[in-house]
Amino acid sequence: MAVGAEAIFGESLITTKLDSAISWARESSMWPYIFGTACCAIEFMSVASSKYDISRFGAEVVRFSPRQADLLIIAGTVSYKQAPILKKIYDQMSEPKWVISAGACACSGGFYDNYTTLQGIDSIIPVDVYVAGCPPRPEAFLDALLEIQKIQASQSLLEDRAKRVFKGALDA
Ligand code: SF4
Repeated sequence: MAVGAEAIFGESLITTKLDSAISWARESSMWPYIFGTACCAIEFMSVASSKYDISRFGAEVVRFSPRQADLLIIAGTVSYKQAPILKKIYDQMSEPKWVISAGACACSGGFYDNYTTLQGIDSIIPVDVYVAGCPPRPEAFLDALLEIQKIQASQSLLEDRAKRVFKGALDA
């Protein structure tokens, strides 16, 4: 029978997989970029306030450059004019990256079913978690964050996220 390192060194040694260690670090230190265009973005402000305190989940360092962010949160109505900008921001983020679509407008256009409004951001970029509501409650934003953490925990370094090529409306 093979004797493991833990059997030899007892509680003075902890072994883990590199995959697990990196996933744990990612989950605990997300760097969000907020693409806020309307009222949902105002609701997000309360998520960062002391009452809801997003820093409990290690995601309070909001970035103002997509190159420094790994979590894109779209909160608000997205017009067709804004769509290429959103796509460019997504493309500028390094892998691995995750996306939360927050609120009815970002998820489906909401009640803005007209010729100016994108009918769901998932027609141009991939979305990991959708949040319902008009606007979503701060608790729903935090719940989405926990869902992203679950996704991160389940992902392996070996998974080639570069394969996650998305052919959206703008590529067509
Ligand atoms: Fe505003 Fe509602 Fe649209 Fe959010 S879902 S941006 S609250 S209209």
